[in-house]
Amino acid sequence: MSTSESDLLASVPDGLYIGGRWRPATGHTTFGVTDPATGEVVKEIADATVEDGVAALDAACDAYESWSRTPARTRAEILRRAFDLVRARKDDLALLMTIEMGKPLAESLGEVAYGGEFLRWFSEEAAHVQGRYGANPEGTGRMIVTQHPVGPCYLITPWNFPLAMATRKIAPALAAGCTMVVKPASQTPLTTLLLTRLLEDAGVPAGVVNVITTTASGPVSEAVIGDPRLRKLSFTGSTDVGRRLLAQAATGVLRTSMELGGNAPFVVFDDADLDKAVDGAIAAKFRNIGEACTAANRFIVQASVADEFARRVTERVTAFRTGRGTEEGVTIGPLIDARAVEKADELVRDAVDRGASIRVGGEKLDRAGTFYAATVLTDVAPGSRILRDEIFGPVVAIVRFTDEDDAVRIANDTEFGLVSYVYTRDLARGQRMIERLETGMMGLNVGVVSNPAAPFGGWKLSGLGREGGAEGIHEYLQTKYTLTPDPFS
Ligand code: NAP
Repeated sequence: MSTSESDLLASVPDGLYIGGRWRPATGHTTFGVTDPATGEVVKEIADATVEDGVAALDAACDAYESWSRTPARTRAEILRRAFDLVRARKDDLALLMTIEMGKPLAESLGEVAYGGEFLRWFSEEAAHVQGRYGANPEGTGRMIVTQHPVGPCYLITPWNFPLAMATRKIAPALAAGCTMVVKPASQTPLTTLLLTRLLEDAGVPAGVVNVITTTASGPVSEAVIGDPRLRKLSFTGSTDVGRRLLAQAATGVLRTSMELGGNAPFVVFDDADLDKAVDGAIAAKFRNIGEACTAANRFIVQASVADEFARRVTERVTAFRTGRGTEEGVTIGPLIDARAVEKADELVRDAVDRGASIRVGGEKLDRAGTFYAATVLTDVAPGSRILRDEIFGPVVAIVRFTDEDDAVRIANDTEFGLVSYVYTRDLARGQRMIERLETGMMGLNVGVVSNPAAPFGGWKLSGLGREGGAEGIHEYLQTKYTLTPDPFS
């Protein structure tokens, strides 16, 4: 590890942030955060107990009244300052993310830009929340519709986008006037801890944002979600955990936002611009080492261009450089842990056993850290697990289709519905695909769709609610309708 890395790590807070104070966990318990490229523990941080989780919620509840009454313009200006601070510290945030999560530095910088934009976007949205006033149709009264913050929130984020998944929740919650407890993934808490320091510097008042890091996610979350003072749960992570949390949230009839797993189809028609389709495929598959909910999981390619598509993708993948994300020119970093490597390998083995061919890769790398070779599989047979499960790794699985109906049938043959990608030059066909594919988002001749100004979210088992866009702030607002008598009668 370089000196600049150790200096940066030493400067990151290692405590819980509760009620505006950094403090150790009850009992001073800690846990280690690992660099997946080396397997080394890089920092010890506080390991919150159930008691700490409840203390964080206490602080969020205490701060709620004051924050919810703070003028929207003031909240907006704090968010804007936070955006400026994130931009000013982009290199530190990016390096930290690469150290704890593994993605190449250039991609971490991309995430800082993307994640920071949520702070700017919701600073702009904060002052634009509006109600309405009008006569009822009978003319006997006046109807007033107003928007109010939903209350104290619990925000749980995953490890794959340590900054953006946090700002995508924290920024709209702050903009709406909510207070919160934030629980980052235990594998990548450091980026959130540094972000918290920046929010503090930007002027977020004590108790408005509280952050707990813990290896006891289950019990700590159950206590917070089960507390009758909590009003909202926002979760990004796997569908399995999301389902469990939804069941817990049912007791308090909590507002919930669920950003869950994906199984994105990437459909290439024979009239597509193949160069652009290959560029899109590389972005849709290998961004974030394939560890993205939006990652293309199934490449569904029209039979007449399937061989050429596979040849060009393989050529590009063969030129990738795998290594620690801090090294110059590295395009593929490590997977998050040994379990992720095992899963990618099992899916590849299953596909091969059922007749798929490996064009490149197809193996774990024999080196320190948790690396899996960038892989291209062709002729993946129907029924293969890799077509059903979220791969979450650098593996391209290609299947063929005959005509448009066949492509739609294969693409929709999944319980997930987050995003789809379609490449075609035929406008009417593109429009038909918008109407026929069962996903909350779609890239039409584009391989990356994420944008803070857009409503991000899924259909089917991919989730509930939307993050970003004009919709994002409404996840943290509740509507009140008031009736008053006709003032002229
Ligand atoms: P995960 O295992 O579900 O974990 C997500 C978060 O939930 C982490 O903070 C984790 O904490 C916590 N958690 C785990 N078990 C819990 C429990 N029993 N009660 C309360 N919290 C619990 O998911 P992941 O592996 O981190 O993330 C990958 C998944 O996220 C993929 O399925 C991906 O598609 C999905 N994802 C979806 C989106 C989207 O916007 N739709 C975006 C990014 C990722 P610990 O770290 O302590 O386990």
